[in-house]
Amino acid sequence: MRFRAVFFDAGETLVHPAPSFPELFARVVTREGYPREPVAISDGLAMVTDEFRRASHEHALWTTTPERSRRFWLGVYDRFLQVLDLPRDDGLADTLYGAFTDRANYASFDDVGAALVTLRDAGVQLGVISNYEAWLEDLLLDLDLTSLLSIRVVSGIEGIEKPDPAIFHLALQRIRLPASDVVYVGDVPDFDIDPAAAVGMFPVLIDRRGRHPDFTGPRVSDLRELPALLEVS
Ligand SMILES: [Mg+2]
Repeated sequence: MRFRAVFFDAGETLVHPAPSFPELFARVVTREGYPREPVAISDGLAMVTDEFRRASHEHALWTTTPERSRRFWLGVYDRFLQVLDLPRDDGLADTLYGAFTDRANYASFDDVGAALVTLRDAGVQLGVISNYEAWLEDLLLDLDLTSLLSIRVVSGIEGIEKPDPAIFHLALQRIRLPASDVVYVGDVPDFDIDPAAAVGMFPVLIDRRGRHPDFTGPRVSDLRELPALLEVS
C-alpha cells in the first residue's frame, strides 16, 4: 500500500452547516424578519474565503480563542449584511454567530461515512487537521465520526492554524509516520493543498461543486472516489 494514513480538513470537507451555509444564513435572517433567498448569500461566499486569506496574511489566528472566533465571524457576517442591504444594528450578526456555532445546525456530507469506513477497513489510519474552534471535537462526537478519526489536530485546541506547516508537522508527529506515507484531503487550495504538499504529504482536493476547474493536481468530487485514487481498494 502506497499510503498508510489519510488526514482530512473538517469544514466543507467532512462537515457543513445544514442544509448549507447560504441556506442556514437565509433561514436565520428570514426568521428575524428580513426575507432573503439563499442564492443571494451564495453570491457572496467568495468573501468568506477572502476573509480567511486576509486574516491568514495578517497572521490573525481566528479559531484559537472563542473571542477571536467571535470577532472574526462577526466581521464576516457584518460584510454580508452590508452586501445584502440588511440592517447592521439589529443584532443580526450575533444571531448568525449563534446559529453557526450551534452544533445542531451541522451535518456530515453523505459520502463521508462510507469513504472513511472503506479506508479504515483497508488498514489506513485516519485523522483530522482543521482550522476550527475547539467545539469541533464535540461536533465529531455528535456525528459519530470520532472513532473513525483517531488522530485529531484542531487549531482551536493546539493554537496553530493552517497554512502554518507546524500544524501538519504536529499531526505527523502524533501519527509517527513520514509525510510521504500520508495523504491530506481538503477543499481550499491555499489552505489545504499547498501547505500539505509543502511538508511532503500527498494532497488531494475535494471539489464537490466544481469550484476549482483550473486545479491540475489530484482531485475527487466525492470522497468515495478516494480509495480508488489512493489505490487502497
Ligand atoms: Mg475546509
